[in-house]
Amino acid sequence: MKAIRVRQFGGPEVLQLEELPALNPGPGQVLVRIHVAGVNPVDTYIRSGAYAAKPELPYTPGKDAGGTVAALGAGVAGWSVGDRVYVGDSLTGTYADYALCLPAQIHPLPASLTFAEGAAVNIPYATAFRALFQRARAQAGETVLIHGATGGVGLAAVQLARAAGLTVIGTGGSDAGRNLVAAVGAHQVLDHRAPNYLAELLTLTGGRGVDIILEMLANVNLGRDLTVLARHGRVAVIGSRGTVELNPRDAMARDADILGVMLGNASATELAAIHAALGAGLANGTLLPVVGREFSLAEAPLAHQTVMEPGALGKIVLQT
Ligand code: NAP
Repeated sequence: MKAIRVRQFGGPEVLQLEELPALNPGPGQVLVRIHVAGVNPVDTYIRSGAYAAKPELPYTPGKDAGGTVAALGAGVAGWSVGDRVYVGDSLTGTYADYALCLPAQIHPLPASLTFAEGAAVNIPYATAFRALFQRARAQAGETVLIHGATGGVGLAAVQLARAAGLTVIGTGGSDAGRNLVAAVGAHQVLDHRAPNYLAELLTLTGGRGVDIILEMLANVNLGRDLTVLARHGRVAVIGSRGTVELNPRDAMARDADILGVMLGNASATELAAIHAALGAGLANGTLLPVVGREFSLAEAPLAHQTVMEPGALGKIVLQT
């Protein structure tokens, strides 16, 4: 089998394509033929060695994928060889043509979706769901600002919030990105690089502000986010790449909450709830993952460079 291996932490160049011995599923394990692997920003943090939870070297990166069940270990029930699945983490890493998974790490991929779309589900949709519903307790009728809506998590959040009856305002940094955010269902779209876009947001909400903000770049935005929240508003911090200064009075004045979001903190019960909801949405078509750029497995270094650049247009994937 082929896999990307990381033998030392560092820049994108440490991602090397290698030939490895075939994997065999042990008891309670499932072997998945990975057709397409998903690339997430967290893969780059881990690869660089800067992430708190570091894997033992060498390792194969990747937590997301679309594929088919290739073999079942002893004692695995409920799955058959050939079943289409999306992968939500694995035992061996998804930047490879095969990965070993626990049964709880695979979920049905409807026939209407491609394997690339399957590779775009796990981290983006699970994080967006956790932020919106498990952390911010979003309710139908509320208004949400998806601050950074053009990437994997943001587009997933637009679809989830729209399907749940919220008024959705998304932001993007490019014309193409903003068009995409509108196309997947945002009611209004703003440019987070424009000087006055938060004043525009207040105008759009009649001066009231938004009930919820899903924040992809808190180190840049959190201080100003607090000034555009409605009373009892919540900011769910999904992404941050540094520190930020804020005025606590902006939160006090609104009885506002700042909520940290970490998908890795979801309990087994919460994860099961997340994937049950995502499965329903994928099956009924309200959730349709957006695949942006596609690379080959050998181009993983380029994919890691690209995922950290501005101008997101959906999910970056690797065809195995
Ligand atoms: P992505 O696909 O690379 O998208 C990044 C997003 O950030 C794009 O929409 C980008 O918009 C936007 N952005 C750039 N500058 C911004 C600004 N000044 N204000 C607001 N948004 C801005 O990444 P992703 O997969 O969606 O993940 C988003 C962030 O969440 C990343 O930092 C990631 O590490 C983090 N994350 C956290 C968790 C968790 O459990 N906490 C889980 C998944 C992801 P333009 O490119 O259009 O400018």
